[in-house]
Amino acid sequence: MQDNAMNNWNNKLRQQLKYIFFTFFLLQNGLSFAEPLFLDLTRPFDEKTIYWPTSESFQLEEVHKGLTDKGFWYESNNIRASEHGGTHLDAPAHFAKGKWHVDDIPLDRLIAPGILIDVRKQALDNPDYKITQEDFIKWEEKNGKIPENCIVLIQTGWEDHWYNKKKYLGTDKLGDTKNLHFPGIGKSAAQYLVKRKIAAVGLDTPSLDYGKSITFPTHQILGKANILGFENIFNLKNLLEKKFRVIALPMKIAGGSGAPLRIIAELEK
Ligand SMILES: [Zn+2]
Repeated sequence: MQDNAMNNWNNKLRQQLKYIFFTFFLLQNGLSFAEPLFLDLTRPFDEKTIYWPTSESFQLEEVHKGLTDKGFWYESNNIRASEHGGTHLDAPAHFAKGKWHVDDIPLDRLIAPGILIDVRKQALDNPDYKITQEDFIKWEEKNGKIPENCIVLIQTGWEDHWYNKKKYLGTDKLGDTKNLHFPGIGKSAAQYLVKRKIAAVGLDTPSLDYGKSITFPTHQILGKANILGFENIFNLKNLLEKKFRVIALPMKIAGGSGAPLRIIAELEK
C-alpha cells in the first residue's frame, strides 16, 4: 500500500514537473507571440485623407446601416476616389507607356525584404528637399550595398505634418498645384535606385518627386525601369534599427495606374 501511495505521489510529481517545464518552455519561446510582429504603414481612408489638389478625394456613401425589415443587421457603403491619394501604389504605367499596370505586377515585387533610409536631418527644415544619390551612398557606407529586389523606404519626417494639410502639401486649396512643397526623390537618386535594381521605393510624402516638380523625372525614371512607388506611407519611425520585410498589397485594379494600398512591415523576431 505504501509503495503504491509512493508511486502515485511520484507520478503526480512527475506530472507537475512536466507542467512546470512546459510552462517554462512557453514563457521562453511562446512569449514572443505577444510582441508586435507587424507594423501598419497605411493611413486610413476617410474624408480627411490627403489627395493631390486636382484629384477626387475619398468618399464613402452609406447605402444601408441598420436593422432590415427581416430583423437582421445590415451595413453596406459605396466608395469613390482617385487611384492616387492617401497611402497608395504608383504602378510603373503611371508615367511610363507600356510598363506594368497594377494587375501586371508580380507578387515578389510587392512582398520583399525592406530597408529604411533616414533623411530627416536633411529634410527637416527644407520642404523643397530632393533626396540625392549621396544620401544612398552614405547609407551604403554604413550598411553595405542596397540589395537587389529589395523595397527601399525613405523617412523624411514629413509624416508628422499629415494632420496639417497646408504644411504636408504646401497648399490646402483645391486645384492649386503651383504651391506644392514637400520633399521627394531627386533625379540622380532615382537613377541610383535603378542601378541597384530595387523592387520598389516608398516614402512618407505625397509624391516620389518633390513638390515643386513640374515634369516628374523621378516618376518617369522609376516607371521606365518597372520600379514601383509607394506614397503617403507612415509609421516609419517605428522601423528604425529594425530588420523587416514589406508586404504591400494594392487593390487589384485591372489596367490601374495606381491603387489604394495596404502596406505593412513584418518585423524580424
Ligand atoms: Zn501616385
